[in-house]
Amino acid sequence: MPNAKLVFINGRRQLVPIGTRIRQDSDRQYNQHRAQTKQDYLAFYHSTAWQHTRQAVLLRDNGVCQRCGMPATLVDHIIPSEDDWADRLSEDNLQSLCKDCHYWKTRRETVKRKKGQGRAMRINIIAGYPGSGKTTYVKRHLGQHDLVYDYDALMAALTGLPEHAGNIDANDYVQLIYELMLRKLKAEQTFEQVWIIMTYPDEKLDSLLVSRNLHHIMLSTSRAECIDRLNKNHRKLSQFMKAINKVDELKRDGKYDSFEVVAG
Ligand SMILES: [Zn+2]
Repeated sequence: MPNAKLVFINGRRQLVPIGTRIRQDSDRQYNQHRAQTKQDYLAFYHSTAWQHTRQAVLLRDNGVCQRCGMPATLVDHIIPSEDDWADRLSEDNLQSLCKDCHYWKTRRETVKRKKGQGRAMRINIIAGYPGSGKTTYVKRHLGQHDLVYDYDALMAALTGLPEHAGNIDANDYVQLIYELMLRKLKAEQTFEQVWIIMTYPDEKLDSLLVSRNLHHIMLSTSRAECIDRLNKNHRKLSQFMKAINKVDELKRDGKYDSFEVVAG
């Protein structure tokens, strides 16, 4: 197709006529150029306001790198200041980092910018009864540059035990991974798609990632079918009944109303 070119529009590949100007990119360049000249940058980093904010953030973070725990040497904009100039003094957008962690973060940002694709990362939340086919559904739709959060698979990986063995201490670690992951997803658009497999809806996730491209999906597999499947797979049904009943209760309360229902 010699008359078309491949471009990224809001993170999606599209073929457009070859002469098309992609406004999003050029507008952004224009806005950036207008908002911050090099002088603005220098003035900002020398300003008293920045020095005060910087000290406050280092104090808040106990002088510890928020990524690796080593002594922090600088304060970093989680969303780079050139992408969000208005937010440059907001402590919510600032974190203490060590030199190494800052180097790697900046490198990833530069690579992403060069690729010229502001990916509109899609976050899929996959819910449903135990045994409803959530993991299978994700595997069927998984892409080449996706992230999967699967509680059961992580628990099994961390304990070396079969899934659903239960281990309250390992659970604590998996929760920690989940929280760190949400924090990073809030700040970055690194993946094409993210798949979060969970039995119940999570209000914390929804509110934290409210500005993101969120899709709630629920497997339609019926309660009876799930129980049948769990039995056939020789699962101890008693381990799952609490979760199955909880799903029913949340369904009655309308907690899954925003979910798109798909076949499992
Ligand atoms: Zn570090």
